[in-house]
Parts: sequence; C-alpha cells; structure tokens
Amino acid sequence: MSELPSIAVIGRGLIGSAAARHLANEGLAPALIGPTEPVDKLSHRGVFASHYDEGRITRKNATDRYWAEASVASIKRYAEIEVASGITFFSPVGALTAGAEDGDFLGETRTVAKLLSVSHQDLKGKTLTHTFPDLTLPDGWSALWEPGESGHISPRRLVAAQSKLAEAAGATLLDVAVTGLDETSTGVQVHTGAGVQVFDQVLVAAGGMTDHVLGRPPSYRVCGRTVALFVVSELEATRLAYLPSLVMGTPERHYLLPPIRYPDGKVYMKLGGDPDDILLTSPDEIGDWFRTGGRAEVRDDLGARFRALFPGVTSASVKMDACMTTWTNDLRPEIARLSDRVSVASAGNGAGAKCSDELGRRGAALIANELGKGR
Ligand SMILES: Cc1cc2nc3c(=O)[nH]c(=O)nc-3n(C[C@H](O)[C@H](O)[C@H](O)COP(=O)(O)OP(=O)(O)OC[C@H]3O[C@@H](n4cnc5c(N)ncnc54)[C@H](O)[C@@H]3O)c2cc1C
Repeated sequence: MSELPSIAVIGRGLIGSAAARHLANEGLAPALIGPTEPVDKLSHRGVFASHYDEGRITRKNATDRYWAEASVASIKRYAEIEVASGITFFSPVGALTAGAEDGDFLGETRTVAKLLSVSHQDLKGKTLTHTFPDLTLPDGWSALWEPGESGHISPRRLVAAQSKLAEAAGATLLDVAVTGLDETSTGVQVHTGAGVQVFDQVLVAAGGMTDHVLGRPPSYRVCGRTVALFVVSELEATRLAYLPSLVMGTPERHYLLPPIRYPDGKVYMKLGGDPDDILLTSPDEIGDWFRTGGRAEVRDDLGARFRALFPGVTSASVKMDACMTTWTNDLRPEIARLSDRVSVASAGNGAGAKCSDELGRRGAALIANELGKGR
C-alpha cells in the first residue's frame, strides 16, 4: 500500500478547520496545526485570531456575487455539520440588509439576490416599521429581509464542530503555533515551538497572521476593529428575540447582532463598524492591538448609534472588545497555490465566517486536486 502524502493545515480557525475537515473526508489525514483560544486576551503573548466570539452574521445576500455564492454553498452544509458533530452553531433568526432606497448598497444587493434567486422580502416604509417595531432606521431606508436560512452563527462553536469532524475523519490536531516555514525540494519544514516537522503539502489558513507564517512582506491589510456589546436583561432578550441580524449601508458598514448569550451567562446585542482603519503590520502590532481591548471612542460612537437604532431598548451596561479583519486588494479571499507545496486560504475581508466552510473546501481542493483526490 502506498503511503499517504503528509499534509499540514496551519491555522485552527474558521477556514483552516473547515479545510481540514474536507481534506480528512477525502481520506488525506491532515495535521491541523494552531493554538487554541487564549484564556486571557489582555495578557496573552502568543498569536491571535478573528473568531473569538459568539456571533457572526450569516446571510446569502451580498453586494458581490462571489460572497453570496460562497455563503449559499456553506449555509447548505450547516445542518449536516451540526448533526454529524452534535455541536449546534447556527441560529436561523433571519438577516436584514438595510440601506438608502436609492443607494448602491441596496441596489447591488438586490441585483445579486436576483441573479442567484436568493429568497427574500423587500421591506419598505411602514411595512419595515411594522415588521421590526423596535428598529429605527434612517429616513428613506429600505431593507431586504431573508427570513430563513440566515441569522447568526457562533464562530467558536463552528470551529469546534469542524475540528471534531476533521479529527473523527482522520485529522490530527496539534495545539502549537508555527514560527516559520522552509520549503525544500523534498518537503516543507514547519517550525513550531515543539520542533520541526516536514510535510509534503502545506495549506496556510492563519487569518491575519498568514503573511507572517509564510514569511513574506505584508500583502494583506490587517485592521484592528472595535465592537460594542450591550447587555440586555432576560426580559428584554425574550421580547427582542424576533430581531434578525442586521447589516447597514452606512459608509462604515455598521452591523448588529441580535440578543445572544455569551459564556459569562449574560445576553448581549453587538454593534460594530469602525470609523477608520487601525493598520496592523506585524505580529507584535496585532498582539499590542488585541491587548488594548478596543478603542473607547469607537465604543462610545457605537453606543450613540445603538440608542438611535433602538430608542426603546434599555441596556444596563456596555463593554467593548478588540478584533481584527484581514483584507486583500480585490476584496476576495486569497485561495491559491503559491508553489508546488505551499497553498494559502486566507483573508476573510470582514465576511469570511458565514462562508468559511466553502472557503475551506476550496483551499482543501487545491491540495486534493494536486494529489489527484479532487472530486
Ligand atoms: C469584529 C468582527 C466581526 C465580524 N463579523 C462577521 C460577520 O458578521 N459575518 C462574517 O461572515 N464574518 C465576520 N467577520 C469576519 C470573520 O470573523 C473572519 O473572516 C474569519 O474569522 C476568517 O477566518 P480565518 O480562518 O481566515 O481566520 P481566523 O478565524 O482568525 O483563524 C486563523 C487561525 O490561525 C491561527 N494562527 C494564527 N497564527 C498562527 C501561527 N503562527 N501558527 C498556527 N496558527 C496560527 C489562529 O490561532 C486562528 O485559529 C468578522 C470579523 C471581526 C473581527
């Protein structure tokens, strides 16, 4: 029997864990390498990631067909991943894409929805107000409402589900950070704190740390992001349970997650949308950013916006959190073979959680096809 080629997927995040599941399902038994979430981000000195949270909006609609297609493909597989892993991560509360009735944001979203036949309702004027009475959008705004197969996912639980299934199908999980790669004619040396291992093929899916793992000059724009989390009471959470996820066509692309319970037991509504970009160009800058815990002025701006959006909603307190988003010039992920042995599947462009299963599948296919295993 011929020996299996050895494969490493670097990055146990949303895209990496999905890629490892798809490779394992092809019988390719990859090693999935990367550290688990730090216990205390404010003092952590290792690598960071973009999925340490409980809420990511999931929806089929998008202004760019690429993202809509990747999301449609991923959402189709949520149920099978939940059932097979026994880990639920999807809350199908629906999603609302809102913007100025005559603006590009809504116009482009409508065009893509039509192209892909994404089922939705066009809500305008009083219909919009009657459907979501707690939500006050700016005058002249309308919305596309996807009532089914959209809402939000828990990125932490999705990573857990993908990792569990990858392992069950033959992947090996290694809880260690990669410090560098050396490609030779016989393999790729993967350097970690625990030593060096050699693999035939490597897929780098290290999110905002990908440039660093590849040892190349910064090619992505990695941006520090601040989110505000508004505590709502149990009573208010029950009353507001009808609210969908919301994406807004403001210049900052504000977005809102409806009430979600977090590991501290409290229920939060989350609002995000930064007025500017904090550029992070090295692992040290990324670490320093996460350790700040976010920017107070952005939290306060988000607080004012939350009160305007939900004038009748009472929040006892607000806290902030820091995260990072990773952008390419063409605003699409980098899913490519970089050499005979090294491939990459990274850069979520602020939208890579909902469709991570499909992005991971596409990354895995780069290697599976090379090895003659692609379907
Ligand atoms: C505040 C915020 C809100 C967002 N909201 C949404 C949303 O509503 N909907 C949506 O679809 N997307 C959203 N996103 C984007 C989404 O979270 C990202 O696109 C997604 O996490 C990208 O997945 P990834 O696997 O590329 O990166 P990550 O999830 O960050 O995973 C990268 C992995 O690589 C690992 N790693 C890093 N360095 C190393 C190393 N040296 N060695 C080994 N492993 C390493 C990390 O530990 C991590 O596990 C949001 C992002 C942020 C920051």
